[in-house]
Amino acid sequence: MASNSTASAPKPAASRRVPVTLSVKAHDEKSAPTTKLADAPRSGPLVDRYGRVHDDLRVSVTDRCNLRCVYCMPLTGMQFLPRDELLTFDEIVEVASVAKELGVKSIRLTGGEPLVRHGLVDLVARLSALGFGDLAMTTNATRLAPVARTLYEAGLTRVNISCDSLREDRFASIRRRGDLRTVLHAMDVAESVGLAPLKINVVLVRGVNDDEVEDFADFARQTGRVVRFIEVMPLDAQGAWDRAQLVSGREIFERVSARWPLEALAREGDVAPAERFRFVDGRGEIGLISSVTQPFCGTCNRLRLTADGDIRNCLFSDDELSVRDAVRAGDRVAIAQLFRDAVWAKYPGHAINDPSFLRPVRSMSMIGG
Ligand code: SAM
Repeated sequence: MASNSTASAPKPAASRRVPVTLSVKAHDEKSAPTTKLADAPRSGPLVDRYGRVHDDLRVSVTDRCNLRCVYCMPLTGMQFLPRDELLTFDEIVEVASVAKELGVKSIRLTGGEPLVRHGLVDLVARLSALGFGDLAMTTNATRLAPVARTLYEAGLTRVNISCDSLREDRFASIRRRGDLRTVLHAMDVAESVGLAPLKINVVLVRGVNDDEVEDFADFARQTGRVVRFIEVMPLDAQGAWDRAQLVSGREIFERVSARWPLEALAREGDVAPAERFRFVDGRGEIGLISSVTQPFCGTCNRLRLTADGDIRNCLFSDDELSVRDAVRAGDRVAIAQLFRDAVWAKYPGHAINDPSFLRPVRSMSMIGG
């Protein structure tokens, strides 16, 4: 499926398509089933060719971020979308309301860092009024504490907070801006206002913070927060990902369970990306998001809306369909069809471990993680 978003200005880094050694594979046009958008359903919910129902939409509100995490963005030189390319809040709400009619039940706001976009509380209130079952946000929490209560009152149901180290100096060296104390304080505030249960996202990088697995597991035990270990993916803007950096979910499971026995819990709704485990003694829970070593594409129910209005059916696929023109034309039927087409075009899996895979053009912060 060709992107139809070419009418807008070129996307940053669009010319960079970087082959990644050892891992990655672009969806293989020859082996993949032929994508016939003409065959895409014209009505009904968002079901793909493999029967997967899509009811979860990640909405990126900006590609900008106030941090520069080592596995995500370069320290300097990151190019961001011109502001006039971003969907306005009116446009995001319009797209979300069409998605709701198509069966989308949960929305997660992300970015970039969602809280760097001015007026986010207003967007939350408007999305909440549409009546989604779950309206969450993923944030680095550096700006969360002062607005946590207002966000909750506006209808945000919970937050996922990213935090890759429990040590001040290391936090600073991974995130390169911001500080740990602010983030830990924001966790307390978020819980106190009702944005719970908190999920804490930890990206482990071999040789950088992998010695903190047990510390984070203990943190989960002490606080009741669900610590989710995420395998580092080839989605950094600088193209420096290396499989040697990866700390597998299996290794984390073995290390944590050697100290505190774990037992598996059902995945939420059977489709959440995290494999969930609770400590056998009843003190807390961890999650493993093993996107690289144990892809969970077979149960994927997720779609993404980028900040500049592209529907994206997979983190690792460059296939994008722009809804911007349709939303600006007020054409809800066209928006709905773009959703159906995007879902219909989805591949059975991201095939990240095939040697011929090419990393996607847009990086995590540009897509919306
Ligand atoms: N700024 C927000 C935050 O920090 O949570 C939301 C956007 S961020 C892109 C969403 C999540 O993606 C974070 O948990 C971040 O750690 C994770 N992430 C970013 N780059 C990644 C990569 N290359 N591999 C795995 N996770 C990554």
